[in-house]
Amino acid sequence: MSDTVTLELKVEDIKKNADVKGCPVERSLYYITEFLAGPMCGRCFPCMMGSYEAKIRLQHLVEGRGETGDVEAIRRIATDMLEASMCKKGKDTAKFIMEWMASGVFEAHAGKRCPDNLCKAFIEYRIVGNKCEICGACKEACKYGAILGEKRKTYLSGYLPYEIRQKRCVKCGECIKACPYGAIIIVETKTNRLVGV
Ligand code: SF4
Ligand code: SF4
Ligand code: SF4
Repeated sequence: MSDTVTLELKVEDIKKNADVKGCPVERSLYYITEFLAGPMCGRCFPCMMGSYEAKIRLQHLVEGRGETGDVEAIRRIATDMLEASMCKKGKDTAKFIMEWMASGVFEAHAGKRCPDNLCKAFIEYRIVGNKCEICGACKEACKYGAILGEKRKTYLSGYLPYEIRQKRCVKCGECIKACPYGAIIIVETKTNRLVGV
């Protein structure tokens, strides 16, 4: 009896921590990762195998590699877990995932968009050339060597403009904080829509 109570409390605690995350897909991935990190009794197949598969599918969606098939698979897994799980822990997990899926945000991620602009896979940091004062503060602030460019030198006619190398950028946001001129923006990669400065 006491074991059951401990498990139920743990699921509730994970849910509380997950709810702090703004994006429902990221929330689900956090939840299922923590769920799998706890004791897994393995008594029923939909919970045991389904939760592993759900974690992989959710990673696809959060990392920008997701497709409609991932969303369908997560929905199928949650439905099977709700029906066939033998304990409250499995059934509650299915309910939480279904609740987080209800807003359509999972489908948006399969379409390469995070409506809350919280998943880093769908945004880019960019330098706006005509606002950049070529001061170099962003390059100094970037710990990942993701910014190319050089300060203008009076004795040289040409210079290398400041630019963010997207493949190296981990989207930490330090360059935006360092730029004194508001010359760095965040855009949604798919639409080029401004989502932050
Ligand atoms: S639903 Fe419950 S009983 Fe079934 S595998 Fe998951 S934790 Fe075990
Ligand atoms: S967001 Fe971070 S990693 Fe990307 S360019 Fe700016 S400082 Fe570098
Ligand atoms: S900190 Fe801002 S103004 Fe300075 S080089 Fe970088 S983008 Fe340009």
